[in-house]
Formats: sequence, structure tokens, C-alpha cells
Amino acid sequence: MDTDLGPTGTETLCDVCTTELDRFSKAGALADRELSLLRQPKRRINVNIPVRMDDGSIEVFPSFRIQYNSARGPTKGGIRYHPSVNADEVDELAFLMSLKCAVANIPFGGAKGGIQVDPGELSEGELERLSRAYVKEYHENLGPNTDIPAPDVNTDSRIMAWMRDEYESITGRQTPGVITGKPVELGGSEGREYATSLGGAVILDRFVDDVGMTREKTTVAIQGFGNVGSHLARFLHDRGYDVVAVSNVDGGAYDSNGLDVTALFETSEGGDDIFEFGAEEISNAALLTLDVDVLIPAAIENQITENNMTDIRADVVLEMANGPTTARADTHLAEREIPVIPDILANAGGVTASYFEWVQNTTNEYWTEKTVREKLTAHLRGAYDDLREIKTAPEMTRTWREAAYTRAVESVLRAEGYRSNVEG
Ligand code: NAD
Repeated sequence: MDTDLGPTGTETLCDVCTTELDRFSKAGALADRELSLLRQPKRRINVNIPVRMDDGSIEVFPSFRIQYNSARGPTKGGIRYHPSVNADEVDELAFLMSLKCAVANIPFGGAKGGIQVDPGELSEGELERLSRAYVKEYHENLGPNTDIPAPDVNTDSRIMAWMRDEYESITGRQTPGVITGKPVELGGSEGREYATSLGGAVILDRFVDDVGMTREKTTVAIQGFGNVGSHLARFLHDRGYDVVAVSNVDGGAYDSNGLDVTALFETSEGGDDIFEFGAEEISNAALLTLDVDVLIPAAIENQITENNMTDIRADVVLEMANGPTTARADTHLAEREIPVIPDILANAGGVTASYFEWVQNTTNEYWTEKTVREKLTAHLRGAYDDLREIKTAPEMTRTWREAAYTRAVESVLRAEGYRSNVEG
């Protein structure tokens, strides 16, 4: 997955986060003294990891693990492998994870990790040695009741399996709950691969019902047909929505009469190939400004920016990617009263399924796929309803993002308050 910053190159992934925290501060909703607990991570660790390469040389890979806030529980967050990974980016993603776990109402804090590497340049053996070395370096700070990693950009269940195995070799104990996103045979959960997308579909259903839209009359454009976008297209199509456009890094396929999503999904699964179905080819830029009911950025960050915000014609934006809307564009869409359902709610199905995996690992009771789907659906409906209550509270008009931040920040600070002398 590509993680380059978006078209403006000026706003960072977490400008939206900072803007929201500042808004809290200015509104006097929370004292700056309390918010300062959220402006910096609790623990930052970084290690330059030496790895023996196949040709006998030793290469050093900068790596990070940020445990942002653990007031609500053990910290949780993925590990990404990418050449552009850096401490600031990992900080921001760990901050978002702290909020996301609170919005999803799961008993975890937030963390994130990363290794500065292009995994495509490594052999299978080098990738395994690097992944195991990461665990060797960080194992004292990991654990099912401490900090629980998961897959992220360019990391997958195979890497999680190596990491679990390495942790257990070091500690001498079976500890499946140390990491999530594992293969099912190693304690992974049924349904994990599409949980983020199912969560997004559940949230959109709730929203559509709320505002009196009809699924059959709701047109949808999805940017990104990778893991999240492709499963989401399938879920929405099966629920009756009219998916008219999808895209990958090379461009989009558009059919105003609706795409044949089932055929697209079956043919392109894993291959990201969307161009052989007679649909019109459009650019990603054109997809983002289509006149549809729902626009779903599900590819990478910083896609709705000051460059295209005035051209957005959708009635609703559902953020499935992390950070697809810059702060300025977010404000602009709010002024135009275009609801943006924020990433920390819309894509929280993934971390919720991770929590379910951890619960199964720690209780040793494993659930069927049907049970996982039912629990996920109920859990995310609850998360949506909690935010709706905050959003529609009579004393204040809030955007969905403001409602999400309100809930998350207050929940984290209340937890901090119970643990210390900070008033909660
Ligand atoms: P993926 O790598 O499987 O798919 C990414 C898709 O985006 C592909 O279709 C790719 O071709 C497309 N793409 C890449 N660069 C692009 C560009 N510059 N312009 C347009 N399209 C581009 O990734 P994924 O797992 O589907 O994740 C997508 C987004 O969802 C990311 O922001 C990720 O952080 C977020 N997310 C994923 C999960 C999860 O469970 N996978 C959970 C939460 C959030």
C-alpha cells in the first residue's frame, strides 16, 4: 500500500487531530492541563535493528513503537513496514488508535509501530529475520496485558505468526494474545480479513436509516479496491446500495447504472484488477468529485484536500482510510453541511475484531464466523448510537468528528482521572 502524503504536501496526517484538540482547548470544554495528557505519547521507543542479509552483509533498519496512552487498557496498534515510516507518523497513528479504541468502546489504549523498510526489496528469509528481530528488541514492552501489536501497511498474518512464535521462544510460554491478526490456525479470529469493511457497512446502514435515505436509491463511489474497499463494495452491494465507482492506484471504473460488484470482487480479489468489465475508466481525481450520495475514501491518507474540497459533490463522506480528509477540507465540508463520518468510527471494525481475537485468545473459547459477525454488528451499532447521542445533544451542534473526539477524549481523560489525581 502506498502511504505518500497527499496532494497538498502541507498538512500532516494528524493536523485534524491537533485541530480538534485545540478546538476543545479554545472552547474551554477541557482544561489545557488535562489535554496535555493527550498531546504527547506516554512512551516512545526506537531501535535501529541490525539484520543479517542473504549476501552476508548486515543492514540496519530504524524502527519504532509508540505507546500513546494506556489509561483505558493495554495499548493496541499495528506495525507498518514502509520506507517513509518515521517517529512523527507513528506518533500520530498511535494517537488516533487511542481515540479509536475509546470510540469503539473497547478496553484498550493506543499504540503503533513501524520499521523503515521497503519489504518488497527483502527476500522471505530477510523479512522473517527482520520481523523476529523487532520482537527481540521490543519484547519486554509487549504482552497481552501490556501492548498488543497487529498488522498494518505491508504486514500480514504470516508476519504476525513469526512475531508470536518469536515472543514465545523468548518467554517460553504459549501467549496467543500477544498479537492479533494471526492465521486462524494460530489463534486468529474468523472474519478478521473483512471486519473493517463489515464495520463500515454497519455504520453506513445506521446513518442511512437515521437520515431517512433508502439503500436502493443510494449511490456510492469507493476510492481503493484493496482489502477494505473490495470487501466493503461487496457488503454494500449485497445490502442493496448502488456502487457506481471503485478505483485502485491506477484509476477508477465507473458505471452510472451500477457496477457488477460481485464479478469485480470475484475476479479481482487479491489482484486489485478492476478494468475488465466494460465500465468507463476514470481517474481517482474524477472519482472523488463524482455526483454520488456517498463518497468512501478507502485507499490512503490526504485525499480530500484544499485542492479538491470545493469540487466534492457527495452528500456524505464515509472515511474508511485513515486520515483521508485534511483539516482544512474537513472544516470546508462542515461549512457546507456535508457530514463526514470519521475514520475513528467508520473503520473501527478492524480494531474491534482484533479485540475479539484477544478475548478469544485470553479465554481460550473460540467463536464461529457467525458469532463474530453478530458481535461485531452489535458492537458497532452501539458505537454509532453513542456518538449520535453526543452529536445531537441539544446544547451544541457538532460534526461527527467533533462528537467522536468528544467521546474519545472524555473517556481517556476520565480513565486517567480514576487512575491519578487528575479530575475526571
Ligand atoms: P490495501 O493495500 O489492501 O488497498 C489499498 C487500495 O488503495 C488499493 O486498491 C490500492 O491500489 C489503492 N491505492 C493505493 N495508493 C493509491 C493512490 N495514491 N490513489 C488511489 N488509490 C490508491 O489497503 P487496505 O488494507 O485496504 O487499507 C486501506 C485504508 O484503510 C488505509 O488507509 C488503511 O490504513 C485503512 N485501514 C485498514 C484497515 C484494515 O483492516 N485493512 C483497518 C483500518 C484502517
